[in-house]
Amino acid sequence: MEKLVALCKRRGFVFPSSEIYGGLNGLWDFGPLGVELKRNIKELWWRSMTQLREDIVGLDGSILMNRAVWKASTHEEQFVDWLVDCKTCKARFRVDHLAEARCPLKPSKHPGECGGEMTEPRRFNLLFRTYVGPLEEESALTYLRPETAQAMFVQFRNVLETSRKKIPFGIAQIGKSFRNEVNPRNFLFRSREFEQMEVEYFIRPGTGLEELEKWKEARLAWYESIGLPRHRIHVRDVPEGERAFYSEKTYDLEYTFPFGRQELEGIAYRTDFDLRQHGAASGKPLDYFDEETGQKYIPHVIEPSGGVDRTFLAILCEAYDEEDVAAEGGKVEKRVVLRLSPRVAPIKAGVFPLVKNNEALVRKAREVADLLRMHLRIFYDESGAIGRRYRRMDEVGTPFGVTIDFETLEGARSGAFAGEKETVTVRERDSMRQERVRIAELLEFLRLRVS
Ligand code: ATP
Repeated sequence: MEKLVALCKRRGFVFPSSEIYGGLNGLWDFGPLGVELKRNIKELWWRSMTQLREDIVGLDGSILMNRAVWKASTHEEQFVDWLVDCKTCKARFRVDHLAEARCPLKPSKHPGECGGEMTEPRRFNLLFRTYVGPLEEESALTYLRPETAQAMFVQFRNVLETSRKKIPFGIAQIGKSFRNEVNPRNFLFRSREFEQMEVEYFIRPGTGLEELEKWKEARLAWYESIGLPRHRIHVRDVPEGERAFYSEKTYDLEYTFPFGRQELEGIAYRTDFDLRQHGAASGKPLDYFDEETGQKYIPHVIEPSGGVDRTFLAILCEAYDEEDVAAEGGKVEKRVVLRLSPRVAPIKAGVFPLVKNNEALVRKAREVADLLRMHLRIFYDESGAIGRRYRRMDEVGTPFGVTIDFETLEGARSGAFAGEKETVTVRERDSMRQERVRIAELLEFLRLRVS
């Protein structure tokens, strides 16, 4: 894990937030490559949910909402963790992370294990409080949303009427959520500000368990399509005592991170709890007349709720690899490679002139870069030995390296019509295999392999 965190910092994937001021616990900034990877994840999710399906439409709700929403959703009252403090060293713990009855802090922090006595558990609400308008008084209080879901419930009627969808149909949303986590930890896994990708899928009563199974399959297929194969994801049937009280059945999709097997996404059958609550609290019933059955009912809901940041982290953990490769002079070198799915890779191809002190090579390489740039995210690099340039791209998961070399120039001089004989070397990241591809076919060659 330390290696991955270091790589993320060194290569511009993730930086600690406010770093020059000492940072702020549980908050991260995504650097030039991180922002691309994250956008690709979100784009692929959005495409699979809205563009490729007729039954789901999108929404982009506000982060601040009327406080009444959080009362009706039970967050104001019940979105809590239980805390204990060590009476000796004052360290604070979330109860379900604490097996020991005594403070477990290790000698690195204290001389000897602390072992202090713990306080009684007390409730701690995870909502971030804020005030809307100039007065910091109770009537102006609201919260930063701790999940994106609620906007999709309270806009149910508007979306239904404007999109003219019929049940079963869903609303999809991607956006920031905020939780004042007691112990943010494990890098991006548990932070205080993160992004969620959620669908609220509205269904007929009585079809919940069947729809839940379909969603489980759909979500596993999506993770597979971005480089997290099914056999690497564990489906946990969450037992009754651990589910939200209104959920009839919930699956957690879990990934084995270096720090243990943990939740990537929850898929919950939430019955009609959400629409019933908001209908009752607002006085505007959120029911539905089903023309097919002639019945009026409050729709039930399946909610697949995934984390962008946890997916980002799982993808990087899955992709990180080190291997020994043969280097010059019969030596063996360590190669760090991110075996990212080309679909999520932040850069799709590196473009390199073989050497930088040859004007014709550089000119041709820039031409190739310009040709590709319009369609794919590429990285042009002319500095250092070609092997070093390949390694830098391996380390950030770029699936292809395109090298413009002397054979390219020979092709250009051979008298054939433009592009006919001009070829470049294309090197594939994982196998390091190289092949010659005509410039005229290069864009199509790459496009087929990265989308
Ligand atoms: P946990 O038990 O790990 O706190 P949760 O069950 O409270 O998670 P949900 O409320 O189901 O999480 O949120 C849905 C998804 O949002 C999670 O599966 C996860 O991917 C993401 N998520 C939740 N909390 C965080 C967080 N603090 N940091 C990053 N992602 C989060």
